[in-house]
Amino acid sequence: YGDPNQKIDYVFKVVLIGDSAVGKSQILARFARNEFSLDSKATIGVEFQTRTLVIQHKSVKAQIWDTAGQERYRAVTSAYYRGAVGAMLVYDISRRQSFDHITRWLEELRSHADKNIVIILIGNKSDLEEQRAVPTEDAKEFAQKEGLFFLETSALEATNVENAFMTVLTEIFNIVN
Ligand code: GDP
Ligand code: MG
Repeated sequence: YGDPNQKIDYVFKVVLIGDSAVGKSQILARFARNEFSLDSKATIGVEFQTRTLVIQHKSVKAQIWDTAGQERYRAVTSAYYRGAVGAMLVYDISRRQSFDHITRWLEELRSHADKNIVIILIGNKSDLEEQRAVPTEDAKEFAQKEGLFFLETSALEATNVENAFMTVLTEIFNIVN
């Protein structure tokens, strides 16, 4: 995952938001280190992780920010959103409430972040199909209405995590180029 001596063409800050326990930290661990842990403790300390990848022959350093247990309503500060060019709005497909709260997160995002920020809605824990509480169609419709990208992911099974990040980063790349 990246040569430290590589020259960097772009740094893109992307923020993860969504209710507590939807899997934000595990999505980041999967993307940044290809790791997953079943008993992930509440996030403390580390503000962001990076991974450098190549998009259209340019090296892009993705700087992904994770909320340090600040998921209570309005507890995420504007410093968190400052300079972000991408956002991943995460809910848990097995927990309806986490999807219902997406409108709040979107409102908060739109009031704090740059208006051109690229946003993807992510339904995580797609491996828990038998406990599904949010139909894919509902989320798809919501995303379409709000102009968001949308994917269901599983950090556990590594399904679509790479795809989700590449969707956001490629779109940002296309906007700045
Ligand atoms: P956060 O509070 O949003 O950062 O959520 P965490 O990443 O800490 O994950 C909360 C819990 O959900 C942990 O027990 C994880 O192991 C679990 N989890 C995260 N992603 C997945 C997933 O894709 N599938 C399943 N089954 N569990 C997951
Ligand atoms: Mg966390």
